Amino acid sequence: MGTAVKSPASAAKVRTRVTVPLEFPDGYTTTAEVFTFTGLEDGREHLALALGQWRSVLAGGGAPLVRPHSECLTGDVFGSQRCDCGPQLREAVERISGEGGFLLYLRQEGRGIGLYAKLDAYALQEAGLDTYEANLALGRGEDERDYAVAAQMLRALGADRIRLLSNNPDKALQLDALGVQVVDRVPTGVHLTEANAAYLSAKVSHTHHTLALPA
Ligand SMILES: [Zn+2]
Repeated sequence: MGTAVKSPASAAKVRTRVTVPLEFPDGYTTTAEVFTFTGLEDGREHLALALGQWRSVLAGGGAPLVRPHSECLTGDVFGSQRCDCGPQLREAVERISGEGGFLLYLRQEGRGIGLYAKLDAYALQEAGLDTYEANLALGRGEDERDYAVAAQMLRALGADRIRLLSNNPDKALQLDALGVQVVDRVPTGVHLTEANAAYLSAKVSHTHHTLALPA
């Protein structure tokens, strides 16, 4: 949990794969091979979307571009402006499609606290707490996300070395400790709006996300 680091994850296996054509609301299209797994540590239904020329990247001994994306129903599905999850997801799918790699869709809503608790945290934020303080006020960890299942999926896919598409230093540390070598960290773009400015600025000041925000 949080920055607590586990020993290398146990082995998972690919369960099924299916081809899914994707079209985003802005018209961008690509095709994903969607993988499901058995043996994931927390028993949840996490997905890996394999995009672009990932097979030739792996076959050539290269490190695929990988984004672990934590589920955000409000941002990913409904276009909520309270966070930058939707634009991050959209950006990641296109960049990974271009370079070959995986989007890991992790079912850990609200930094791991769940959907209802996330909405409760929003209510506290309206009362002036930042996103981390709100989680603590609810008696939860400020970030309960755990990347063990991400490491399990990557190893099942044959990706022991990756280029990590993320601004979050904790993801790289956790994955390294879990036996996935992060050979490069690739920053994502900044998706700043009036509604998410406070949220992004809390990410930067609190967990040292590498976002270049205007002052
Ligand atoms: Zn979000």
